[in-house]
Amino acid sequence: MAKIVAVFNQKGGVGKTTTNINLTTALSMQGYRVLVIDIDPQGNTSSGFGIDKYKLEKSVYDGIIHGDNLKEIILTTTFKNLHILPSNPDLAGAEIELTNLTQRELCLKNAIKDIEEFYDFIFIDCPPSLGLLTINALAVTHSVLIPIQCEYYALEGVGQLMNTISLVKQGLNPQLKIEGVVMTMFDSRTNLSNQVVDEVVDFFKEKVYETMIPRNIKLAEAPSYGQTIFEYANTSKGSKAYLALAKEFIQRQE
Ligand code: ADP
Ligand code: MG
Repeated sequence: MAKIVAVFNQKGGVGKTTTNINLTTALSMQGYRVLVIDIDPQGNTSSGFGIDKYKLEKSVYDGIIHGDNLKEIILTTTFKNLHILPSNPDLAGAEIELTNLTQRELCLKNAIKDIEEFYDFIFIDCPPSLGLLTINALAVTHSVLIPIQCEYYALEGVGQLMNTISLVKQGLNPQLKIEGVVMTMFDSRTNLSNQVVDEVVDFFKEKVYETMIPRNIKLAEAPSYGQTIFEYANTSKGSKAYLALAKEFIQRQE
């Protein structure tokens, strides 16, 4: 059965999508069968893989809300072991539609039941909110991977994030774990980045990955070409960092 990991932080712009795209690609390049589920209505993970979200016949929305068979919605990518369950703007309405469904927190869990066996890892890219879509992700996932941006107020919102995790553990998903915390947009030349890392390590201890993702312009450019960092700039600092993160992630599974 697949290990499910939700990339979660209700703050926007901290590197969730960038981490989701490039970490999953790095894992697939190491031979793991990976499914990426995009449940952000903005669909940035989908477009980052070169998928035109406006031309999709069906998306994760149809799986979650209508219970459509995911095998007909999942797309292949240029990477052999990497599949994606894409999102499109339809999903924005799902937050409201979900409120009227029975088992509204478990719709994603029910949707992916039949496909889990085909993958080693399933990664879920969460939207920047604590709405029902995020709750659906937290209800089904085994663990959360938390990206934290190296900036002022990095820990702002972390209390709320931990609170949400503990509420979900009390009810929907008692086994929920923190997979790890990854520092993003790190700049080793600045005191600020180093201070932020110290603060985050104080808080999350050994959960913080040794691998830090540097601020790297190639990582920001790649999605506009619909490419992962491994296609767009395979020798960049960004690509090396995500490969290293994938290795560290795998080591922690053992
Ligand atoms: P989130 O999904 O949390 O909103 P994104 O992954 O979309 O965050 O990142 C926010 C913005 O920062 C995007 O424009 C992205 O290209 C850019 N970005 C993310 N990680 C890096 C990085 N390591 N270096 C430079 N730019 C980055
Ligand atoms: Mg995002």
